[in-house]
Amino acid sequence: MSTTTPHQRVLLKLSGEALMGDDRFGINAEILGQTAQAVKDIVQQNVQVGLVVGGGNIFRGVDLSASGIERVTGDQMGMLATVMNGLALQDALKKIDVDARVMSALRIDGVCEHYSSRQAIQHLEASKVVIFVAGTGNPLFTTDSAASLRAIEIKADLMIKATKVDGVYDADPVKNPNANKFTTLSYDETITRQLGVMDMTAVVLCREHNMPLQVLNMSKSGALLRAVMGQNEGTLIHS
Ligand code: UDP
Repeated sequence: MSTTTPHQRVLLKLSGEALMGDDRFGINAEILGQTAQAVKDIVQQNVQVGLVVGGGNIFRGVDLSASGIERVTGDQMGMLATVMNGLALQDALKKIDVDARVMSALRIDGVCEHYSSRQAIQHLEASKVVIFVAGTGNPLFTTDSAASLRAIEIKADLMIKATKVDGVYDADPVKNPNANKFTTLSYDETITRQLGVMDMTAVVLCREHNMPLQVLNMSKSGALLRAVMGQNEGTLIHS
């Protein structure tokens, strides 16, 4: 494959909330379009892109259990929410001529493909964006863990976690103007300092498989592109 980028295959984790923009629920059409365009920008650099999308803009199992729905049922609803987001992203990508495939950890025939790592890699090698939905397919997990898992399975050389802040800080930068941003961090520091970048299972999986993890703000113009070009952007967590 001919590419000038240091990263040939990346796994991007997008939270459901990232698709919500300033709305209180659901998918914001403008943000959806901008997200698709940012993905297209890296596809045009010959980077193979896998996406894991969350569902927090629609349902989260833990929130549903607070309103009386059994946790496992709530998690199943959360996983289905990620399918809706994935379909919306597939549609937005297709509108701008990016070929994309939704692959679900739960079988939903007629709507999307069932996940298989081998098939996913074939799609990526054929320059299709693969959107992984339904998380791990199991309750009690998060889409952060699904993202680490898929990144490892598809042999991505970088996992990118898009957040609302432009990296990992030693305190909440929204509440504390003196918070300092880390340029790099080790997995162990991230875990022992409980920096809250992703859930612990996800960070531990990355550590066990030496998967570098870059944390950045997708709404910052060009941030995703700079990350895949190997430039300083956000925070890089590695061994
Ligand atoms: N979920 C699950 N198993 C998984 C991934 C997700 O049960 O492997 C459910 C869980 O209820 C979660 C919801 O799907 O709250 C949405 O995922 P997540 O909270 O990770 O979305 P995000 O915060 O990234 O929008």
